[in-house]
Amino acid sequence: LEPDYQFMIRARLPGGICSPAQWLGLDQVARTYANGSLRITTRQSFQFHGVIKRELKATIRAINDSMLDTVSACGDVNRNVMATALPESSSLHRRVCADAAAVGEHLLPRTTAYHEIWLGRERVAGTSGQDEEVEPIYGRTYLPRKFKIAFAIPPRNDVDVYAHDLGFVAHVEDDEVVGYNVTVGGGMGVTHGDPETYPRLADVVGYCTPGQLIETAETIVGIQRDFGDRVERKHARLKYTLAERGVEWLLEEFKSRAGFSLAEPRPFSFTHTGDLLGWQRTDDGLWHLALFIENGRVADVESISGLAGMRAVAHLLEEKGRGEFRLTPNQNVIISAVEEGDREAIDAVVAEHGLDGWRQSSPLRLNSMACVGFPTCGLAMAESERYLPDLVTRIDALLEKHGLSDQPITIRMTGCPNGCARPYLAEIGLVGKGPGLYNLHVGAAFDGSRLNAMVRESLHEQDVLDVLDGLFADYAGSRRDGEAFGNYLHRTGAMELP
Ligand code: SF4
Repeated sequence: LEPDYQFMIRARLPGGICSPAQWLGLDQVARTYANGSLRITTRQSFQFHGVIKRELKATIRAINDSMLDTVSACGDVNRNVMATALPESSSLHRRVCADAAAVGEHLLPRTTAYHEIWLGRERVAGTSGQDEEVEPIYGRTYLPRKFKIAFAIPPRNDVDVYAHDLGFVAHVEDDEVVGYNVTVGGGMGVTHGDPETYPRLADVVGYCTPGQLIETAETIVGIQRDFGDRVERKHARLKYTLAERGVEWLLEEFKSRAGFSLAEPRPFSFTHTGDLLGWQRTDDGLWHLALFIENGRVADVESISGLAGMRAVAHLLEEKGRGEFRLTPNQNVIISAVEEGDREAIDAVVAEHGLDGWRQSSPLRLNSMACVGFPTCGLAMAESERYLPDLVTRIDALLEKHGLSDQPITIRMTGCPNGCARPYLAEIGLVGKGPGLYNLHVGAAFDGSRLNAMVRESLHEQDVLDVLDGLFADYAGSRRDGEAFGNYLHRTGAMELP
């Protein structure tokens, strides 16, 4: 006998896109093999929790049967490539998602081991030791650490492009992507008590044409493969390589490998990191309904039959033969590419299953995001997904007291300092330190362009509320017109609380 081990499985969905048929396949996986819920992640993917060991193979096969896979969803390789979920232009979205998918495909490991182990395919190499598989990009030792890539379409920074090892920011002229600004060296993970580890924003290092995109990605990955720290794993992300060697060094190394230089960056700016919820119309006349899914958990609970509701929507889209789903980097879902005439039927299904309840939620809640944390993440030190909704209710009461109920403020919580919900880019960030204890960070920019700072360590809930009460009082009394909470704290120095 062995313990009843259970696992998390993560799917790979470049740009977070899946068809109605794929959604139905994953819904079936969730109900058959996992804990009856689909968990949308901050990287536009799905996680399945509670998969028991003897069902692993069947689960991964079922995901593959849905025409999706789990390749590179974990490990020291390039992970799921993200892309802005809903720009105003559908052609831009199509183009950028195609580029994101192409980069993701190019950086997939070539090994057939995945298919041999999980799908029962025959071994085609490596049987004699003479014919080892060759990994053209990753080599024999893969990368020193995981690698994350995102594509952003300004002015939306929903992907938090500065939080990634490598980012591409679309430069658009006449509704065409004519190139990409390249960002390098972002990352969130930290280890408590280790000042050698820190969150870092990526630098804007240059600009490439669409034709140089794949080579740019491969070259940056190759530099990290060869120069990333392979001795100290906590120090192995590209952000440390770049912070210590510098952008000039990176650009020289890049030129010597790629045979061309990155051009000067083009100007761009972002306005926000959140999702525009509700119905939006794109320039091709199609409609998109972005639904707030609290902390990404699609499940049948109390007043919301989320799993059943989304299943019904998927059936509806299948019947109509049009439409798709897009997972957002804020853990929400967009019912996408809907014809005008289908909106009413979708609204009815959404309402019937309580999926429109978010319309009564506060701006704070709609800008909240928690990682999984307890009970399914083995690294969690404190509650996250199960706790943040209650804490938001209490913080909302403080906002109301100070007349700030309508103010959108980003709040993110993680159960440990790894930072899966990107808490260091929230105006209020809470990072688990131990059971019931959180480090409080404040003062990030609303557009994702500035990190917050830790102002208090190891706080219980009441201490968190007391500190925020004081900050809200100052903000309500002294903010400038239209000034976001994080920007106010940054301007006044309040994020350097004594
Ligand atoms: Fe787990 Fe930590 Fe990531 Fe949260 S931030 S999901 S606790 S590893």
